[in-house]
Amino acid sequence: MSPVQDTDTHEPDFKLQVASMRSLIDAPSPADDKTEELKAELTQRADELARATDWTRDQFLEHAGCSSEQLVIDGNAKIDFMLACLSYLLWMEGFLTNLDLVFDRQTAVIASTRLFHDGGRDLDDCKRAMTEKLSPAERSAEELISFGEVTKGFQVALAHTDSKPGRAIKRVLLDDPCYLSSPHVSDDRVHLAWTDPEALGVRVAESVRRHVGECSVCAASRTRTPA
Ligand SMILES: [Zn+2]
Repeated sequence: MSPVQDTDTHEPDFKLQVASMRSLIDAPSPADDKTEELKAELTQRADELARATDWTRDQFLEHAGCSSEQLVIDGNAKIDFMLACLSYLLWMEGFLTNLDLVFDRQTAVIASTRLFHDGGRDLDDCKRAMTEKLSPAERSAEELISFGEVTKGFQVALAHTDSKPGRAIKRVLLDDPCYLSSPHVSDDRVHLAWTDPEALGVRVAESVRRHVGECSVCAASRTRTPA
């Protein structure tokens, strides 16, 4: 099974996998072997993500803000840099896991690359920002992405980063009197979740239906006819 078909969260797995690569590197064996092992792991991850997004490896790496040379598949980067690359690819794999449509996955790769760049290139801060809320009425970026609201999700994530662009977006959101009372999922998506789940992707549609069942603001969308 491809990692992107697994519906479980990968966050604990990521730490485990990076830790396992770290122990491999710390193990008493020739340094070249360790480097090659890590390069092989990076290549495999990049190829899996390329398949999930229907891009070639080079196209995927370009959209992910890397190049195969920078990603050290073809180059000679330091081990810490390679481990950072591995963490970055595993982070991407985590949110692609819950998206069914290639278009949504491609949008998520591009938006997450921008989040990482605009958010100050701090992966831990990006991960934290994906789970934060401005108020109990808001949904986190992670939740919005699981509803297929990918662009909006990454905008919310950026608003929670400790960065200048993030603080600017946060101000814009908080100045909007409707923001915190607006539905989390668009009327069209709510409608499709019942009438044509495959148009959203079956797991995304299931996630939307579950949310609408729990959220009075989005439940009201069901009574509106989409344009
Ligand atoms: Zn809602």
